[in-house]
Amino acid sequence: MSNRIETLEFQAEARQLLQLMVHSIYSDKDVFLRELISNASDALDKARLESLVDGDLDLDTSDLHIAIEVDREKRTLTVRDNGIGMSRDDVVSLIGTIAKSGTAELLRKLRESKEATPANELIGQFGVGFYATFMVADTVTLLTRRAGQTGGTRWESAGEGTYVIETVDDAPQGTSVTVHLKPVDDEDHLFDYTDERKIREIVKRYSDFIAWPIRMAVETT
Ligand code: ADP
Ligand code: MG
Repeated sequence: MSNRIETLEFQAEARQLLQLMVHSIYSDKDVFLRELISNASDALDKARLESLVDGDLDLDTSDLHIAIEVDREKRTLTVRDNGIGMSRDDVVSLIGTIAKSGTAELLRKLRESKEATPANELIGQFGVGFYATFMVADTVTLLTRRAGQTGGTRWESAGEGTYVIETVDDAPQGTSVTVHLKPVDDEDHLFDYTDERKIREIVKRYSDFIAWPIRMAVETT
């Protein structure tokens, strides 16, 4: 079981939603950052809560925060939290399938609506969570370790049907999601998400209400 690398398929509904994201019918791509920050914030809430519920759990709550890191050279944007994290099984069930009733509802409406309600509007209403990253990403890499567990999990996907999952020895508590950005000259990709000002503006617009500290680092070399 240890360190095994597997290539798994997204569940059917997840695959449909990913197709919509990869071929990005939704014009407001900035929301991917809102979704990542909101997940990180939830994970920090859960870490604090679990540390209160189970004092014996090996969980570091000394500096709970969100970090956004940009590497302009590599064209990556990473949102990192040191919250509750996920086990390998969590990653398969939470990221590989659509567990949310809201998302299933969204897909149903998208199928039904045809032109009646524009897809843009529906997605705006429902939100698509983690999968929103595939609007701006060529590939997405997730590294996570569940608080209290020793091993971590690495997950990677291009959003096209399958993902690769691997158990790793060393991963910090919590989750980091690294978005390998599509080229900026891609015709429907309007913004450069390695632009620090742009990122600060999106964070301010969408995540001003987040209770946890959000720190930002930009690698310029
Ligand atoms: P939602 O946040 O509405 O549940 P998402 O698609 O954004 O839907 O995320 C799916 C699930 O994946 C979350 O409910 C959570 O359990 C898990 N998850 C996503 N990001 C993180 C994270 N940074 N830390 C821990 N769990 C996460
Ligand atoms: Mg979410």
